[in-house]
Amino acid sequence: MKIQYLGTAAAEGWPGIFCNCEMCKEARRRKGKDIRTRSQAVIDDKIVIDLPPDTYLHMLTYGLNMPSIQTMLVTHSHQDHWYPEELMMRREGFAVDMKGTLSIYGNDAVKESLKRVVSEALEYSPHRAQIEYHEIKEFTTYSSQGYEFIPLKATHNPRENCFIYIIKKDGKSLLYANDTGYLAEETWDFMQNEHFDLVSMDCTMQRIKIPTNHMGLPNNVDVVERLKKMGCVDKNTKYVVTHFSHNGGWLHEEMEKQAAVYGFDVAYDGMTVEF
Ligand SMILES: [Zn+2]
Ligand SMILES: [Zn+2]
Ligand SMILES: [Zn+2]
Repeated sequence: MKIQYLGTAAAEGWPGIFCNCEMCKEARRRKGKDIRTRSQAVIDDKIVIDLPPDTYLHMLTYGLNMPSIQTMLVTHSHQDHWYPEELMMRREGFAVDMKGTLSIYGNDAVKESLKRVVSEALEYSPHRAQIEYHEIKEFTTYSSQGYEFIPLKATHNPRENCFIYIIKKDGKSLLYANDTGYLAEETWDFMQNEHFDLVSMDCTMQRIKIPTNHMGLPNNVDVVERLKKMGCVDKNTKYVVTHFSHNGGWLHEEMEKQAAVYGFDVAYDGMTVEF
């Protein structure tokens, strides 16, 4: 399996669109890996995770083939992960010769916002934009295009059922864990018999350990320690941290140094990892 990180920032991007902090100023100067767009990833060029406002930029920059994508997993309805207005560009006259229907999997909040946006334009006829929405439940296995995926309960926005995902194919398994704080006990219970080849983690606050809806590097270390104790990972498992905020205090180079201590790779926009 292969994952490509298309966007690796928290909600406001890095530099934050309206931010003038030292971290954002320095990112504007350095450019390169210090420029981070909103969160999105693609598995084997087929399964897209989330639809941020920067999807169009990801298509232009990394050749993300949006007309061919048929499976989209959505983590939650925060705007940096879910920008349903873009789906209206699938309408007749705006998109010609798409490769079939786009199946979108997500929670009830994602469904509601899709309904709101789509109903304005299509009187809620998603098929007219060739969209099929699947409302899914945590700890249940689904499949699409030969991949199995299981939404797990994230620790994020208590007003909705935010998901992290296990994604499997051909004996390989990925844990994709953002946005989330340290994982919920139900999620730990569920993962007992799972084995991961790659663990991708929310590291929004970087140097800061936080108790709530995101993680920092110290939280990631706690997660990996517990996964090791449970036997869910082995010496070949890869670890990647992503979804960074300028409030976390480390530009890419420093983040890499700090993460290397624990054997974690630091995602940057466009990075591909095979596992
Ligand atoms: Zn986010
Ligand atoms: Zn800033
Ligand atoms: Zn969020």
